[in-house]
Amino acid sequence: MKGSLFIISSPSGGGKGTLIRRALAELDNLRYSVSYTTRKMREGEADGVEYHFVSVGEFEELMADGDLLEYALVHGNYYGTSKSQIETATAEGFDVILEIDVQGAKIVRRKREEAINIFILPPSFEVLAERLKNRRTETEDQLAIRLENARQEVMFYSSCDYIIVNDDLETAVTDLKSIVRAERVRRNRQMDTLRDILTTFES
Ligand code: ADP
Ligand code: 5GP
Repeated sequence: MKGSLFIISSPSGGGKGTLIRRALAELDNLRYSVSYTTRKMREGEADGVEYHFVSVGEFEELMADGDLLEYALVHGNYYGTSKSQIETATAEGFDVILEIDVQGAKIVRRKREEAINIFILPPSFEVLAERLKNRRTETEDQLAIRLENARQEVMFYSSCDYIIVNDDLETAVTDLKSIVRAERVRRNRQMDTLRDILTTFES
């Protein structure tokens, strides 16, 4: 059975990175789609782990050769999802998480209608601003851009299948893991197993 695609988006600083890291560490059979980006590597990041870090020229080549399922200019940098990477992983039966911005999520949901859309919502704009500031990964200017963009990004909640309010961290992690697990027990995702079981009931 092919794996599912989980599209997880939130305004920057909403907590999707934190929640996804926990879900990946605590659930089996789940893979992370490593995007390409032209953003500079942050301290503690490694090429090929958080992202494939590329130059603008290299990104333009990727745009031309067609392996990007989607790409977007986010807060001044390019980000894009590798189509071949997620196709290989889902074909092998892994569920795959796409951690992408709202523009990218809108594109993927059109191209992959079966994908599950999850939106991470911070408890308020003030809490989002506080968390993003405390993360200390952006300059003042970058922070201001991200917060301004959040005012529009937040409206994407209305077209998502699931909303996680990321207030208490443990509750939010449990919510994300519960969504992945619930999707796995859908009837149409268990047809092979069900057929085997039902065969044993035949007289
Ligand atoms: P995103 O990946 O959406 O940009 P992060 O996962 O980096 O967001 O989270 C933004 C900041 O908020 C990080 O410093 C993270 O440690 C912190 N954070 C995330 N979730 C919570 C939470 N539930 N309570 C308190 N702080 C949180
Ligand atoms: P950051 O620079 O904080 O790692 O990411 C900035 C934003 O870009 C986040 O909202 C993140 O989810 C988004 N992003 C990461 N990878 C991709 C991608 O492949 N495509 C799109 N559209 N957005 C992405």
